[in-house]
Amino acid sequence: MCSGRVDLEFVLRAFSNGMDGVFIGGCRLNECNYTTHGNYDALNMVLLCRKIMEHIGLNPERLRIAFMSSAEGILFAEVMREFGNTVNKLGPLGKAEGIDQNELKSKLAEITKLVPYIKVVKNEKLASRLESSAEYDKLFTKDEIDRLFSEVISYYIDPGKCQACMICAKRCPVEAITSAKNQVHVIDQEKCIKCGTCFEACPTKFGAVTKITGGPVPPPIPEEKRTIVRKGKEKGRQDKE
Ligand code: SF4
Ligand code: SF4
Repeated sequence: MCSGRVDLEFVLRAFSNGMDGVFIGGCRLNECNYTTHGNYDALNMVLLCRKIMEHIGLNPERLRIAFMSSAEGILFAEVMREFGNTVNKLGPLGKAEGIDQNELKSKLAEITKLVPYIKVVKNEKLASRLESSAEYDKLFTKDEIDRLFSEVISYYIDPGKCQACMICAKRCPVEAITSAKNQVHVIDQEKCIKCGTCFEACPTKFGAVTKITGGPVPPPIPEEKRTIVRKGKEKGRQDKE
């Protein structure tokens, strides 16, 4: 019902499915019936997505947002005709930009996987309501988007610090943490959506979850080495011996 519901992931999925262009229609700005003004959210998302498209070599003109009321049928027809012509002139997605189809698919898949991370990092800007189009032109910059992807944060559980309290695994929204009693917990980097919840949730006294910016993540500790030997138990065992 609201253009604010059009998620960045929906747009990327449309392109991943081979759409040559994506159009989003929203109510006129400042004429929203609700206090939420979701059309501003849609506008911010589109501006971000267009910069991401540039980042991966796609022509941002393939994504358009326009605002109009449901009574403006003629305007809608004109905008759609013009957008259709633009997309036709641009040609097939990726081919026209000289990007190999497989490479494009993997780039889009990579970005789609990062959507929750992107939304967390750009949370404030995505929720902004600016006054002028000049301000909107500067909302997201090329450098900022390049940095966003070169400084992607990964989360890693330090096997030397994890005390298997299981809090992180219970809070992880995508079950990306391998968890078992008395076992060092391990993050599956393929499943992790980089939300940072485990980092926040790990008790300060353990501080086992670390943030890694831009660099490689150490390989997971082998399963046979994950058992945590508590200091008291270890001492008890030594005393018996
Ligand atoms: S950052 Fe932590 S909580 Fe968030 S998805 Fe990754 S492993 Fe799960
Ligand atoms: S919250 Fe911290 S100490 Fe507890 S299991 Fe997770 S990483 Fe280990």
